[in-house]
Formats: sequence, structure tokens, C-alpha cells
Amino acid sequence: MNTINDLPELKQQLARFQNHLIVNIAGELKRINRRVYMRELPFVPFTNSIKKDIDCIYLDDQSAPTIEVPFLEYKRKSIHDFIAEKEMDHWDLISLFEMLQAFFPFESNPPLTFSLISEEEYISFYEKWDNWVCLCKNGVGIEGFQTCDQYGEILMATIGSGWEDLYRCARCGRIFSQLSHKIIGINTDPNPEE
Ligand SMILES: [Zn+2]
Repeated sequence: MNTINDLPELKQQLARFQNHLIVNIAGELKRINRRVYMRELPFVPFTNSIKKDIDCIYLDDQSAPTIEVPFLEYKRKSIHDFIAEKEMDHWDLISLFEMLQAFFPFESNPPLTFSLISEEEYISFYEKWDNWVCLCKNGVGIEGFQTCDQYGEILMATIGSGWEDLYRCARCGRIFSQLSHKIIGINTDPNPEE
């Protein structure tokens, strides 16, 4: 058996490999353009002791993949930290990338009333008044907002309904995340009965 005398080089290779995969995971999350919940993946690529605590993965403000663990003390953590703390290994990292690569956010064809938006747009949020103002100028005290699914169809925010964190503008149908305020699409026919 050969003696390893190029350990620093091997460590560097491993670090490069890790960074390379994380950059690619970020690319897939950008393509998917929303949070990916662990329940949507074939399996949870983390060490057994924390599997059940992992909620979702998304890109943070700096476009770094971030993992949310709402019931743990630290709430959210980067992939680098998960690996450094041995809660995820490099095989898990490969699996995560492969699953995200195969992930398409719509299980079926989206309804005709749904379209994605091309611009990166956000709903305005005024924390002081706890109010959202849509790009169409609708607000909480005007026509308001409704909880909805990824296509902007009304969905009650009850346990088991599958509701994530999406709201739609009752006036123009823009669909956005209540956490990031990012608009993910638009329901072009939000009030078909009218
Ligand atoms: Zn609106």
C-alpha cells in the first residue's frame, strides 16, 4: 500500500470538490426558484440524528444554499457548517445535488391561469404596520391577500392542506412567499366567478 505523502493536496481537492458541488446546488435552487422541502425529495440526505429536523433548503440573500431547521436552536445553517459538524457527508452532498437536479417544481402541468414571472419582483412589506403592498397597490386593508398553492389557487392554511408559505394578491393574482416577499408567479384569473 502506498504511503500518503500528499495529504495537503488531498485536503485541497476535497475542499474544491465540496465548493464545486455547493455552487452547483445553488444553481439548481436558482432554477427551481423556490424553497425545496425535504418531504418533496426521495430521501433526506443528512445524518440520521437530524433527518427529522431538516425542513427545507433555499438560497439566502447572498445566494448561498441554506438549510432551515426550525425546531433546532440555530434555526438555519449553511451546507459548509453541516459538513464541518459532521451532520452531512460528501456522499450526502452528491445525493442532494442529484435530487435537486432531478427536481421539477411542478408535478403536473401548471394550469393555464398560472404564469411564472421573468423579473425578480417583491411585494413591499411594512413591518411597522404589518402590511403588504402589492405592485398593483392592493394592501391588507383593501382587497387583501389569500393563502394559496404554488399556482395561485386558494388553499387553506390548515394542518394537512399542504400549504407552504404562499399568498396571492386578491386583486391581481400575484403569488408570493410570506417569508421572502418574493413574487414567484401570477394567477392571471384569480377571481373567475366575477
Ligand atoms: Zn396585486
